[in-house]
Amino acid sequence: MNTLARITTCIAITLLLSVPTNISAQDSPPEGFTALFDGKSLDGWEQKNGTATYEVVDGTILGKTATGSPNSFLCTTKDYSDFELHFETKVDDDLNSGVQIRSLSKPDFKEGRVHGPQVEIEAGEGESGFIYSEGTGRNWISKPSAHKHFKDGDWNSYRVVADGNRIQVWVNGTHIEDLDVPAIESKAGFIGLQVHSIGKDKGPFQVQWRNIYIKEIAADAVRVAQASNGTPEIDGEIDDVWKNAKRIVTNREVEEHNSLEEGKAVSTASVRCLWDDGHLYCLAEVTDDNVTTEAYEDWAKDSIEFFVDGDMDRASSYGDADGQYRTNAAGEMTGGSSTNLENYKSAVKKTETGYIVEACIKLNAEAGKKIGFDVQVNNDPGSGGRESTAKWNDPTNNTWEDLSAIGTLELVGDK
Ligand code: BGC
Ligand code: CA
Repeated sequence: MNTLARITTCIAITLLLSVPTNISAQDSPPEGFTALFDGKSLDGWEQKNGTATYEVVDGTILGKTATGSPNSFLCTTKDYSDFELHFETKVDDDLNSGVQIRSLSKPDFKEGRVHGPQVEIEAGEGESGFIYSEGTGRNWISKPSAHKHFKDGDWNSYRVVADGNRIQVWVNGTHIEDLDVPAIESKAGFIGLQVHSIGKDKGPFQVQWRNIYIKEIAADAVRVAQASNGTPEIDGEIDDVWKNAKRIVTNREVEEHNSLEEGKAVSTASVRCLWDDGHLYCLAEVTDDNVTTEAYEDWAKDSIEFFVDGDMDRASSYGDADGQYRTNAAGEMTGGSSTNLENYKSAVKKTETGYIVEACIKLNAEAGKKIGFDVQVNNDPGSGGRESTAKWNDPTNNTWEDLSAIGTLELVGDK
């Protein structure tokens, strides 16, 4: 080889080596996760609304605005309900974008307009990571506040955990949102990548996504909730101290106790918990369209039950630290055979949509402690029998004798 040839070869090799070996920006999914995007094609995705374009470029999905187009969405062909979603995104500074979760498109709703919760993507001092109710007219579901955790002109990593009525979002590792989703929002639906409409003389702008991974949360996974520190008065009135307590919802139905006719509503409760030195407090707001306590058995009357596994051993029987506490819509308190009702106090109030149970349970409580916890709503639709039973965690009817499938409640300290 002459000198020139040698130099040329050398340059060629150097050039070759400087090309990233990982041409595709798509990594393999972490343990337990499935890739929603294969890095090569748009298999498993379909476009809804709008004429913005989506194409695969260098292992990313690149969306580009189209003048005159309404908001466009590239949507998974599959629906998801409870999940942990990871993705990375990069967006032009002047383009607002987002990722739809649990979203719908129906001919009878605004002619297929994509709607549902959207995780915001926005450069600058923006509202990235907060949740907007896209297409419904309800505006923000979050109470957003601008922050600088989003990296302009660069890749950003998002983590979204949607579990029951709780949606949490992290942007570049910072916990941005922990939201109680109102019941009116959809519970399941597709995931959709938004390319926003643009003003007449603007754009074109672009947004990219890559490494889109999902892990579905099983319908029977053990749920975890938080009780914050505070002391309410037990009178059936919702004092201010309840305001910042997180809600959980009894949306798991106990199968063998659901014999309601089609179209009749299962009675459910939205529940908040607080704790202080020596006590656990529970507030259950129950929805029931026919409140009655006529049934013979205590557990068949319209009532709320709180289950507490105070030492969290998830044992198959009740010990000294445990209890099953029941209050019916008429205010009567009953409990499991090994439960000491002296440890229990409650107040009831009828509402337009059902009733409220506010309760105090004696508990050896301290910040950081975890206990086993569950809530059950018994419903008599007016027939004199229990025809629906809804739980927060354990979907069996066994919690009254067996605490092994109970949920987890964390007692959190002052922030
Ligand atoms: C259950 C009933 C059971 C009762 C015993 C309730 O939680 O749903 O089926 O008989 O507890 O107290
Ligand atoms: Ca009822």
